[in-house]
Amino acid sequence: MKIITNIAEMKKISKDLKKSSRRISFIPTMGKLHNGHVKLIEKGKEYGDVIVSIFVNPAQFGPDEDFNNYPRDFENDSKILKDLNIGYLFHPAADIVKNTETFLIDPEYSNRLEGVFRPAHFQGVLTIVMKLFCIINPDFAFFGLKDYQQYILIKKMVEDYFLDIEVMPVPTVREKCGLAMSSRNAYFNEDDKKIACNFYKSLKKTADLFKAGETSGEKLTVSTIKELIKSGFKIDYLKIMDKGLNIEKQSVEAGDILLAAARFKGVRLIDNIFFE
Ligand code: AMP
Repeated sequence: MKIITNIAEMKKISKDLKKSSRRISFIPTMGKLHNGHVKLIEKGKEYGDVIVSIFVNPAQFGPDEDFNNYPRDFENDSKILKDLNIGYLFHPAADIVKNTETFLIDPEYSNRLEGVFRPAHFQGVLTIVMKLFCIINPDFAFFGLKDYQQYILIKKMVEDYFLDIEVMPVPTVREKCGLAMSSRNAYFNEDDKKIACNFYKSLKKTADLFKAGETSGEKLTVSTIKELIKSGFKIDYLKIMDKGLNIEKQSVEAGDILLAAARFKGVRLIDNIFFE
């Protein structure tokens, strides 16, 4: 596996792959890889030569967030990628975002859900992903549905800028107890992690309530919120939206999505579930 830190070198490798008619599957990550990332990579392999990036992007963290403490383990990440037989790992230095003067502004509709609690987050995400797209020029880019709002925004950005990139969604990979895998789960001790599992269990219960016939958005969310608060979660939001994330649903239909973010023991969790 080739580890590339230099932008010009990464551009050349991508260009050469394209010249030899190879298709490029790109998987952007912030590292501390887990099976969620692995799933994206395995999907990527089905479509082309895989380039994974690892970059903890300071531009997407707020001033009071965990940029400095964000889990990093480059050595183990490289080993995981080598074992997966990945050809290229792009690991740019911080100057990929330093001194940037033109940020991509996120659209008005991103100022909901995550946008309320992380005001500059999506501006930082869109800007770094656009930079990485410009360097790598992939045919396919893989994003996890765990970060659903991010996935929707990236798809919109690709449409808005006429990029020839197919944005590929990958379902959320979970621990046995249902907890969505996340690099931030490394912050939990074993006991706290067990309680953190209730986050998804509550979302699942809500989805089951819908299956059993309840369609009132208020009824579906109120009991879930109460239950989570009782277990010690501090809820940022728990909302039912249409799948385009345009409107909050009062009367819930199949295809709508329940999205939630909460903090437990200071660790921020996000997750979602579709109503079927
Ligand atoms: P991150 O390293 O957390 O920025 O995530 C990199 C990519 O992996 C994003 O597209 C995430 O949505 C995706 N991802 C993270 N966790 C999971 C998971 N549990 N299942 C599927 N995809 C995930």
